[in-house]
Amino acid sequence: MGEVKAQDQKYIANTYKRFDLEIARAEGAYCYDESGKRYIDLSTGIAVNTFGACDKEWVAAVTEQLSLVTHASNLYYTAPQVRLAELLCKRTGAKKVFFANSGAEANECVIKVARKWGKDNKGESFFNVVTLKNSFHGRTIATLKATGQDVFHKDFGPFPDGFLYCDAGNCEMLKTLVCENDCCAIMLECVQGEGGVMALDKEFVSFAKRLCEEKNLLLIIDEVQTGNGRCGTLYAYEQYGIKPDLVSTAKGLGGGLPIGAAMLFERCEGVLSYGDHGSTFGGNPVACAGAYSILSRIDDALLAGVRERSKLIFDTLSCADGVVSVSGLGLMIGIETKRDASEVISRCMDAGLLVIKAKNKVRLLPPLNIELDTLKEALDILTDCLKQTII
Ligand SMILES: *Cc1c(COP(=O)(O)O)cnc(C)c1O
Repeated sequence: MGEVKAQDQKYIANTYKRFDLEIARAEGAYCYDESGKRYIDLSTGIAVNTFGACDKEWVAAVTEQLSLVTHASNLYYTAPQVRLAELLCKRTGAKKVFFANSGAEANECVIKVARKWGKDNKGESFFNVVTLKNSFHGRTIATLKATGQDVFHKDFGPFPDGFLYCDAGNCEMLKTLVCENDCCAIMLECVQGEGGVMALDKEFVSFAKRLCEEKNLLLIIDEVQTGNGRCGTLYAYEQYGIKPDLVSTAKGLGGGLPIGAAMLFERCEGVLSYGDHGSTFGGNPVACAGAYSILSRIDDALLAGVRERSKLIFDTLSCADGVVSVSGLGLMIGIETKRDASEVISRCMDAGLLVIKAKNKVRLLPPLNIELDTLKEALDILTDCLKQTII
């Protein structure tokens, strides 16, 4: 660990404040440092390892594809890409899919689609996208600007124009922004993940949907973190009773390999034409074969299990010593703690449990199929570390 840490600090750009832990090996809900110490991992590489690390079926699907064709450019057809796109469309009602390699890139795509749709359907000036304050949409220049948090904006301007920010939950403000500016879309995360695991109100989301219908805008849902079963339904928007026009996803879709997807629904399915967008790696056959193995197993039984595990966590933590409140949806959970969140996290790490932060909260993103006994063991450690007075 000492050497890896030193070399990392020497050669890796200083963008990550890492925990003092080298992950040498991982399997299911467990990972191990180089000394062999075992941790229960409730962070899943930030909602990526959907079925835990190195899930056997996923490994088999990826391995098989690796020796068939690892990469082919998008100048040619490949079966894994088509199979995954078909599954995404059948499961969501989307009409078309564009594959990217990350969440930010998936968001770049949905923003491009919304802008072109606005231009084609409403006029040149209808490029504005209303996003929410406290949102997170990525780290590229455009998705940073879409992110409604000033902290991300310092140092990197000038940014592209065309993003307006609304307070989450403020229907009046949303209406005013949409009425007073030439807009093509409203974009939101049903649960703001990086913003502190804050689920939006149902009323606000349905209001946004109605506004999109009345004012002829597209509704974009960023499901990069909330999607792929994480919140207890395949996509979180299903629990809000709305139909989106564009959905971006990534993280958990790949189950451990980089992939992003932009899903285009009926109103904008024909917006992109030849040359409008592209990606060298997008829809990589290996990543797609892995994603297919994940997506095809997120069925009703699995989702019922997610909701059962979610209830266990909410029930256990809501009345636990040292907890102020518990927020989130499904297995995307934020804990407002009496102790400093970072202190809780490092105490957990010492005790063999990996949890992460979101704003001032402790964030849990367990594998969707974590064994109940393992989850209970993790919650025992967590509730201990949350206590204000330690014996
Ligand atoms: C993580 C995240 C992104 C960015 O995804 P990357 O793969 O890191 O580019 C975008 N939107 C949301 C909601 C996210 O949680």
